[in-house]
Amino acid sequence: MSFSSRVAVVTALAVLLGAPVAEAAKKKKRTKASPPRATNMPAGWTWPPSKPMVALGKACTDELDTLGIGWKPARKELKIATPITVPAMELGGVKLVSVFRRGPHVMDCQLALGLARQLPALHTLGVRELHFSRIHGYTKVRVGGQEKRTLSRHALGLAIDVRSFVDDAGRKAIVLDDYPLGDPLLLDVEQTLGDSGGFRTILTPRNDPESHDDHFHLEVRVDYTKPAARKPAT
Ligand SMILES: [Zn+2]
Repeated sequence: MSFSSRVAVVTALAVLLGAPVAEAAKKKKRTKASPPRATNMPAGWTWPPSKPMVALGKACTDELDTLGIGWKPARKELKIATPITVPAMELGGVKLVSVFRRGPHVMDCQLALGLARQLPALHTLGVRELHFSRIHGYTKVRVGGQEKRTLSRHALGLAIDVRSFVDDAGRKAIVLDDYPLGDPLLLDVEQTLGDSGGFRTILTPRNDPESHDDHFHLEVRVDYTKPAARKPAT
């Protein structure tokens, strides 16, 4: 058995036994000479976070400050580069309501900023609340009914699963029940967020009916190879 397949087996066993993936990952020897692996992680993403990632995180929280969005640093979570909470749980005029879990809901700053930028467009459509089942979770990608080897963007705090949207008349459009009926609000939300360019492919019942029949999976697009914008010298 090759080293890499042994690592895969150890990792798989660790997952099966409920041990954190990190434990297995720690045991894997790191050598500078090892070639870069093809991954599905954001461009430039490393763990621990590289200097550019830390700088982008700082630029992100600075921008939240500029936008007047209250945030707090959160305790470190595995694989979240810039863990924060947004105590008001409202971004871009839309309330984020947790369906199952109590807060605090730790997310990467980039998700908060992405939502702050994109949710005003949903507010224009009449959306006032989105009800989510999950933000952070140390899980792998699940698509087409199968679990992939890649860490999901939820593990990075960059994604949110939305089950329903409430409009300004108080009507709740539920993905599971109303999307198959061609609910106009849900279709408009899907189209608007897809067109925004701020998210990677949005997973919905349309493109992944097996694993996303009851929610929209939104993950903010982040490129850690782009240097953080410097504030102009004054
Ligand atoms: Zn998801």
